Amino acid sequence: MSTLCWIRRDLRLHDHVALSKALDEGETTLVFVFDPHILGKLTDKHDRRVTFIYQSLQEIESELQKKGSSLIILYGNPEEEIPKLAAHLKVSGVYCNRDYEPYAKERDSKVEKKLKTLGINFEQFKDSVFFEKHEVLTGSGSIYKVFTPYKNKWIETFEKNDRTISDYECQLKKLRKFSHKKNILDHNWYKEIGFIETPPLLHGGTKAAKKRLQQFEKIIDDYDEQRNFPAVAGTSNLSVYLRHGNISVRDILRVATAHSSSGAKTWLSEIIWRDFYQMILDVYPHVVKGSFKREYDKIKYLGSKEDFHAWTQGQTGFPLVDAAMRCLNETGMMHNRLRMVVASFLCKTLLVDWRKGEEYFAHKLLDFDLASNNGGWQWSSSSGCDAQPYFRIFNPYSQSEKFDSQGEFIRQWVPELRGLKGKEIHHPEPLLAPDYPRPIVSYELNRKRCLAMYEIVKDH
Ligand SMILES: Cc1cc2nc3c(=O)[nH]c(=O)nc-3n(C[C@H](O)[C@H](O)[C@H](O)COP(=O)(O)OP(=O)(O)OC[C@H]3O[C@@H](n4cnc5c(N)ncnc54)[C@H](O)[C@@H]3O)c2cc1C
Repeated sequence: MSTLCWIRRDLRLHDHVALSKALDEGETTLVFVFDPHILGKLTDKHDRRVTFIYQSLQEIESELQKKGSSLIILYGNPEEEIPKLAAHLKVSGVYCNRDYEPYAKERDSKVEKKLKTLGINFEQFKDSVFFEKHEVLTGSGSIYKVFTPYKNKWIETFEKNDRTISDYECQLKKLRKFSHKKNILDHNWYKEIGFIETPPLLHGGTKAAKKRLQQFEKIIDDYDEQRNFPAVAGTSNLSVYLRHGNISVRDILRVATAHSSSGAKTWLSEIIWRDFYQMILDVYPHVVKGSFKREYDKIKYLGSKEDFHAWTQGQTGFPLVDAAMRCLNETGMMHNRLRMVVASFLCKTLLVDWRKGEEYFAHKLLDFDLASNNGGWQWSSSSGCDAQPYFRIFNPYSQSEKFDSQGEFIRQWVPELRGLKGKEIHHPEPLLAPDYPRPIVSYELNRKRCLAMYEIVKDH
């Protein structure tokens, strides 16, 4: 029996459920498809995520070549390409890992239908999350909508299973051998798909991911103390590797659960947030277009296009917000604390619809993931499941004083404020920083306007 393993957001060759199962069946060919539908949404032809993905594929190809095998890369609609290739290779089954995004689910069901007409099986597996929607349910068998009880049940289920974290061995020697296939490393894929190579700060691939995990393990015990300060390297920076599957969620959990410190427990909790949001997207796909709590769609946002533009450019006159946005624009990365600050600022201080911010993040974030991004924005705007209450509004000044007290992060990204000393940096006086914009709105005034704007959802 021979099989085709279709890799998508699982760009690695170890602890890979679909690949492991495919290789158990027999000789396996590995394929990746550049999908014009997905690439078409990336308006910036220098998008670093394309380079990150390509770096990951290059690493896979190098590994495969050592085994006498090679990766097949295609450019086209997967609904056409996968059945065509499967028929050409005369495989008995196509194997892949489940993707919970609405577009992916629809695409996969179309692929499955086509394969069925050809008499080819389509097998999907749980891989990118630890627990799926049916595995963590309330006592009455329903879906959790609040995080803490979900997390407690997640941990209880994990303990009940004796803390088992399977490692899916991949017998790479059973990969299909190629004698005359074109090497993907010799082909200019950037040109073919219409992008320009733009290396991100973090190099794509499993080697870099594993190294980062090893480095983070040295500081994991301090995570709870350090994770909120953007100027401190206190978090793992593994989100982009998890997003593209250079490392498995099980790799991460093995490290998280090997430590008993409160730092490791807090880190585990963040990884469970990831499972939670994937589950919410899977069960409630309406969140992609609207508020999880549907009545929040009645809110009429009062903010202006100009204020939104200033936010995107880091020109609001609020130092921590501007530093965070400039960092995002330059690197594609943003610390979690800052994501919460700028998201709250956009919808509750500038009074701009959270969907605009969500879309901007989707264009810019190296680790962009529909489920986590949507969850984070809905949390910040209070429209989501287990969101912060609508009347809780982050004060950008006190967030700045608390989480960047010495202004180290601000100084790094806002050169106009580098000369300011002490607390001045959080409230720059125009005379001391003449090149820096004045605040585009009054925080206090807009706080009141925000509460009035949210009045319509007061009873929910
Ligand atoms: C408005 C907003 C938008 C966000 N958009 C994304 C996104 O597009 N992609 C993304 O991966 N995360 C997103 N997050 C969650 C979080 O900010 C990032 O996962 C985190 O900053 C990544 O840094 P790290 O890898 O150092 O995380 P660590 O602190 O080391 O955490 C470990 C891992 O847990 C997961 N994680 C941590 N926090 C969260 C969270 N709140 N929700 C879901 N998973 C989490 C990530 O996979 C992360 O790599 C968003 C948060 C907010 C508030």
